[in-house]
Amino acid sequence: MSTILIVEDESSIADTIIYALETEHFVTKHVATGGEALDLLAKKRFDLVVLDIGLPDTTGFDVCKEIRTASSVPILFLTARDSEIDRVLGLEFGADDYVNKPFSPRELVARIKAILRRSSPSLVQDKKVVSKDGLAIDSEAMLVTCYGKTLDLTAHEYKLLATFMSQPGRTFTREQLLEHAWEDPGSAMDRTVDAHIKSLRAKLNASSNKCAEIIQTRRGLGYCYHPPQTSD
Ligand code: CA
Repeated sequence: MSTILIVEDESSIADTIIYALETEHFVTKHVATGGEALDLLAKKRFDLVVLDIGLPDTTGFDVCKEIRTASSVPILFLTARDSEIDRVLGLEFGADDYVNKPFSPRELVARIKAILRRSSPSLVQDKKVVSKDGLAIDSEAMLVTCYGKTLDLTAHEYKLLATFMSQPGRTFTREQLLEHAWEDPGSAMDRTVDAHIKSLRAKLNASSNKCAEIIQTRRGLGYCYHPPQTSD
């Protein structure tokens, strides 16, 4: 059972979201200000945050930035204007998705379920996983083979690739990648992630040209992995 924090100052919209989610057996908690949301997030664990951008005391963008200093909880923005969508897409807020107002409750619940599926814990941690698509990862030996060739990866490159392969199609922010692939994320910087992705891509590309594009840059958001295509 997932617990969703709803940060929305318009009570009619909040009520609609609460009803839609509770009908689908989610547990919800609703607050109307960014301040209350941050207080609550400091005390309690949530599986996802639905975050309105226009809030009485601050903006959803600032709340998101603050959340991201401490947590990688999935965030779904509620946007009301095209200019807000542009900011969600164009800047590095670490949001997982957005829904534009007015939205259908069913659409919102579907998006939330999709995000939760993507962010659920991976199998790569505790058992040997072999991908079907040319890349195979052996998490016990900590080795990745690409079309039969073992890649000579550094520890960070291996952990980055394992993180990507655990959730194909998910966009990871640099902060999330630091959290997954670095033991002391606080000491590293976003540019560190970029540098390791660059060297990882070069090794993948050298191993097979089918792997040249598998780690894609999502401008302003982060990186996303798509398994190599075997059909060509
Ligand atoms: Ca609002």
